[in-house]
Amino acid sequence: MKTVNVSIVTPDGPVYNSEVEMVSTKAMSGELGILPGHVPMVAPLAIGAVRLQKDGNTDLVAVSGGFLEVRPDKVTILAQTAEKANEIDIDRAIEAKKRAEERLNQHNQSHVDFKRAELALRRAMNRLNVAQFK
Ligand code: ATP
Repeated sequence: MKTVNVSIVTPDGPVYNSEVEMVSTKAMSGELGILPGHVPMVAPLAIGAVRLQKDGNTDLVAVSGGFLEVRPDKVTILAQTAEKANEIDIDRAIEAKKRAEERLNQHNQSHVDFKRAELALRRAMNRLNVAQFK
């Protein structure tokens, strides 16, 4: 089976590097599935899970936005934050989700705070979703 090297990096350093048979992730434009030999492209990423498939196993990494760069033999994900499923602190994500929901339930807030709380909620829910697969 052909493979492609996938590297996920954040401003804090590398999070994941492996040869995989397929990588799927959530771009701003929708779900993307990348196989070895894919044409070069760059796409902005949404908050979501990166699924990395190899030998019948799937690794999951939670990312909160960034960029995907595809070359035929290499996929690089430059993410704002990235955590492997087994590195996610579930209690922390539950607390972050609660805080975001409380903010969203307050009515007298500015648009900016509302958007910020909505993004925090999506990050927390993404982490909780990915953590289920550890
Ligand atoms: P919190 O309010 O809990 O900080 P957040 O969504 O605001 O959540 P980020 O700003 O996205 O946090 O991330 C800050 C740093 O903390 C990043 O390095 C990120 O990987 C890490 N991080 C955030 N939440 C978790 C978590 N639940 N488990 C592990 N690492 C986390």
